[in-house]
Amino acid sequence: METLVRTEGLTKHYGIKHIVRAVEDVSLHIERGRSLALIGESGSGKTTFARLISGLEKPTGGSIELFGKSMDGMSEKELRPMRRDLQIVFQSSGGVFDPGYTIGESIREVLANYEKLSASEYEERTIESLRRVGLDPSLRLRYVSQLSGGQCQRANIARALVLAPKLVICDEPVSSLDYSIRKQILELLREIQDRYGVTYLLITHDLSNVPYVCQAVAIMYQGHVVEYLDSTERIGERVTHPYSRLLYRSIPAADPRQRTIAEAGDTAADDMRQVETGCPFRLRCPHARDICAREKPASVMTEPGHMVACHRA
Ligand code: ADP
Ligand code: MG
Repeated sequence: METLVRTEGLTKHYGIKHIVRAVEDVSLHIERGRSLALIGESGSGKTTFARLISGLEKPTGGSIELFGKSMDGMSEKELRPMRRDLQIVFQSSGGVFDPGYTIGESIREVLANYEKLSASEYEERTIESLRRVGLDPSLRLRYVSQLSGGQCQRANIARALVLAPKLVICDEPVSSLDYSIRKQILELLREIQDRYGVTYLLITHDLSNVPYVCQAVAIMYQGHVVEYLDSTERIGERVTHPYSRLLYRSIPAADPRQRTIAEAGDTAADDMRQVETGCPFRLRCPHARDICAREKPASVMTEPGHMVACHRA
């Protein structure tokens, strides 16, 4: 198996007086062909993790290997060829496109960063990339303001795929879209995965998306990965960390789309404080004991491919 990303003890703190532990001691890996879902409430460090492995932020501590190379001390110049293989699809796709360029020009620009082609070859590749995501190639002549939300997110995906990257980070790719369109975009992501062998890091609030597109899951709480599973089958029944259980319990069976993680825990803001010792979840945990305040739980394997960081595990 080819490991696309491997982090060891990855840490990112913000601030000087008041430290925000955005990512804390995260050791994760993404294998080729096994898309990873990163889930957790807003503020749990998901986007920061994505920015770290993309080289957009420098870590406070720990290490990152991207496509088998250490990113430690890597220069912009060394990073450049690696960026070709790592593309990002952001939540608000509109901002990705310059309003003064046509969609086709924007896609061509990404291509031209890495490949010297003739004008007709650029045109062909742009058309092909739009067809791949189910858009009519004539949309290349339009501006972002002339596209619907769904078309815009498809164009965004087309742009991310035009260089045939190995890894595509999708940060909440459907959360700004209407429910009616979300399913279509997820279908598209899945189809692209099957057809072009792309691997995703899918950051999502919506747990119902996970088994659809991903083969592995990491659950984050306040910068920590509290649980990891290398399969997504019957995931709701298999998670054991009290935080993961809380997330999964709060999805009503009838229509899982109706609720997301943000609404899952009805928690007093006070319990959201970051703790510096012990288990990060202990203030909200119904099972917290003395040891949870004293010692940070190590991540232990409770069954093959299933890691849990909890003193009860
Ligand atoms: P998520 O994507 O899971 O919602 P983020 O990674 O965006 O979480 O944020 C994690 C924490 O780090 C939050 O408390 C956020 O306020 C903080 N944070 C993120 N980026 C910065 C920054 N540039 N400066 C200061 N704090 C930040
Ligand atoms: Mg985020």
